[in-house]
Amino acid sequence: MGLFSRLVVTCMPLIPKPVVGFVAKRYVAGVNLDACVETVKALNAEGAMATIDVLGEAVPNLEKPKEYVEQYDQVFEAIEAEKLDANVSTKPTMLGLNIDEQACIGHYEHLYEKAKQHHNWIRIDMEDHPYTDTTLKIYRMMLEKYGNAGTVLQAYMFRSLKDIAELPEGANIRLCKGIYIEPREIAWRDYQIVRENFVACLDKLFRQGCYVGIATHDDYLVHAGMALVDKYGLKREQYEFQMLLGVKPKLRKMIIDQGHRLRVYVPFGKDWYPYSTRRLRENPDMANHIIRAFFGLS
Ligand SMILES: Cc1cc2nc3c(=O)[nH]c(=O)nc-3n(C[C@H](O)[C@H](O)[C@H](O)COP(=O)(O)OP(=O)(O)OC[C@H]3O[C@@H](n4cnc5c(N)ncnc54)[C@H](O)[C@@H]3O)c2cc1C
Repeated sequence: MGLFSRLVVTCMPLIPKPVVGFVAKRYVAGVNLDACVETVKALNAEGAMATIDVLGEAVPNLEKPKEYVEQYDQVFEAIEAEKLDANVSTKPTMLGLNIDEQACIGHYEHLYEKAKQHHNWIRIDMEDHPYTDTTLKIYRMMLEKYGNAGTVLQAYMFRSLKDIAELPEGANIRLCKGIYIEPREIAWRDYQIVRENFVACLDKLFRQGCYVGIATHDDYLVHAGMALVDKYGLKREQYEFQMLLGVKPKLRKMIIDQGHRLRVYVPFGKDWYPYSTRRLRENPDMANHIIRAFFGLS
């Protein structure tokens, strides 16, 4: 990353919100559900499945999760009414895990009931390490009680191989590198080590018979994933690749053209700003887009 790009990323909070919004458009399906439905229809038409995420993170009080729950209820209704090929992804802290575990579990019970009514399915995203144990605990509860549940493991965490060994039967796991900045004592930071642990985790998940969402835009890992699928002779229905909306659409097409199933993570909602700045910070190249937009060059 060039010095100027690095400066822009560091100064992100000072960049006017409309400029971030302009660049972020590719990562977020819009502010409302209608826009999200249109995005998912377009993805379905190109042969991709979707997972819909209502944008939001750690709530400030126990009223806020109720709003998110209502929005998810509407998402389930829209998926069924519009016959979308989509499930949903959720963040435990937006359902209150950062304040009250029992309240969070109550919201999940409601959402899993609702998903069942609409023949749908929910993945519980993995956030930063203070929530890893409780997220896995809630996942196990929901899997046991409702069945239509999946969660996420992060290849940068030292603990992930052990977590895989302890997964319940029938587990459905999205495997990703991990996006949060974790302490050195608990997570790998070296790029190649994280890749190698990703491959080790994926191998173990497949050996254990888990359904895996291979979530990455890293060509190296997409290749490694395809090689493992081949090694274990897996059928199309036993795994899927996953990518974020707006990231590497050419790779997405290549994966689909090779005959694999692929799901795109489609976030929408009014709380788009923190998500977008996180995505922009994650990919330094995007700083160039910001610079261009800032000076009216895009
Ligand atoms: C479907 C999905 C769900 C996820 N869910 C979680 C979760 O629950 N918890 C969690 O901690 N993390 C989650 N992540 C994020 C993940 O952990 C990584 O931070 C992220 O995917 C980047 O890692 P990568 O494997 O793509 O490799 P990288 O090495 O980061 O990226 C490979 C290449 O992809 C491109 N790229 C990657 N990210 C971007 C971007 N934002 N914008 C533009 N180009 C980009 C760049 O060209 C980069 O060189 C999820 C990712 C995906 C795809």
